[in-house]
Amino acid sequence: MAKKEIIYEFDYDSKFLNEHNVKRLASDLTNDADTSSKILDCLFTAEVTDEQIAEVTGIKLNFVRKILYKLFDAGVANYTRVKDPETQWFTYYWKFDSRKAARLIEKEYNKHNEEIKESLKYEENNMFFVCPNGCRYAFDEATDYQFICPRCDEKLEYEDNESIINDIKQHKSPYIVNEE
Ligand SMILES: [Zn+2]
Repeated sequence: MAKKEIIYEFDYDSKFLNEHNVKRLASDLTNDADTSSKILDCLFTAEVTDEQIAEVTGIKLNFVRKILYKLFDAGVANYTRVKDPETQWFTYYWKFDSRKAARLIEKEYNKHNEEIKESLKYEENNMFFVCPNGCRYAFDEATDYQFICPRCDEKLEYEDNESIINDIKQHKSPYIVNEE
């Protein structure tokens, strides 16, 4: 648990598993990039208890548990319960679930690409018209309004959307696929 370079190794083979992606996923699931990233560092160092994580990271135990349970809810973290024969207390050893994480990341990655593809298709297959205040309509809509903005009562002008198309082409999923 010493402060050293942490290597993110996965016990499941997937081109979607890398440090960047699992941290991004944990951040999305918990809405807390910083804390979830520190907790992941612990989980990828050793099988650890919530108390050990709190100790190493300096994050409050309750908060560590809150984040762990969010990861658990999504299925990307699991625990093993071990009973101390003397005290009868349970200790929870936490572990990252690479297989489940890979599936979630792949799903998100495909969703992002699908969205990008859809908006590109929409821009490429439509003509757009804008009013001076920036309201934007596809050709059919603009025709319905007889090229007068219904919100501003201003004339609608043809808009060249090439730069929008080029912008969309630059969009990428925040998840990175490992090179084969
Ligand atoms: Zn308008």
